[in-house]
Amino acid sequence: MRSIAIINQKGGVGKTTTAVNLSAALARDGLRVGLIDIDPQAHASLHLGLDPAAKTPTVYDLLTEDARLADLWQPAEDNLSVAASHIDLAAAEVELAGVVGREVILRDKLVEAADDFDYVLIDCPPSLGILTINALSAVDDVFLPLQPHFLALHGLSKLLKTIGLVNERLNDRLQLAGVVLCLYESGTRLAAEVAGDVDQFFREARKGSRAWANVRLFETRIRRNIRLAEAPSFGESIFGYAPTSPGAVDYRALGGELLAYYAGRAILDAATVAAA
Ligand code: ADP
Ligand code: MG
Repeated sequence: MRSIAIINQKGGVGKTTTAVNLSAALARDGLRVGLIDIDPQAHASLHLGLDPAAKTPTVYDLLTEDARLADLWQPAEDNLSVAASHIDLAAAEVELAGVVGREVILRDKLVEAADDFDYVLIDCPPSLGILTINALSAVDDVFLPLQPHFLALHGLSKLLKTIGLVNERLNDRLQLAGVVLCLYESGTRLAAEVAGDVDQFFREARKGSRAWANVRLFETRIRRNIRLAEAPSFGESIFGYAPTSPGAVDYRALGGELLAYYAGRAILDAATVAAA
């Protein structure tokens, strides 16, 4: 199982849209996908049409009670299950304040799901608090959606530092694997310039820590497309709502790029094992 946290402490950069539609793209490729919604706003859960009043336990129960991930999964599309969020999760930060090991609750529970899925994606809230730390402690990889405007790189050093600290102290598998440009205004000079800056920034940053030494900027650009903004109100991924839209084309391409990326890494890992 590959596990990926979609993080950025800024809101509105395309985290949820990417978590939902990338999950759906992989599921449509026949992979078994689990999407964990760890944002109290529950946007990913709502996007996929899950009923917030359902009796199924949510990530709140997972983190604060003894619920197991197996109790949470709700079917959303073929091959795609969702562990839903709940607004109560907003209180988790305070409720967990005195709990020993509060940073690694999700990590310990995710281990049990290893055989059930090929990919698990986690949609994170726009902060670097205990919920995001739980996601970072649990996964192998971080994907960072960025919106290409002139402040896109602002605040990234704090984010990189957090990833580095979690790598050192809680989860030495953790890597910043990829950066995805979302809400891309194709054809504008600003978007192209920012894409160049982002590429340059991460090429330089690579030297800084083993936690982001292999980071790459995905070639796929997720263009701004109104269908992506409309799909949540229909409770469907872009592939259910508008399968021929540019949004569907882009997320399908991103899914393909992701699979090629992991196939390449599997070959490298095998070569490393063979050489050892
Ligand atoms: P985050 O989870 O980072 O807060 P969202 O994925 O919720 O960001 O995106 C913020 C808003 O922008 C949402 O209303 C979403 O529907 C919209 N949106 C995201 N990506 C696109 C896109 N490529 N084209 C058009 N609208 C988008
Ligand atoms: Mg979101």
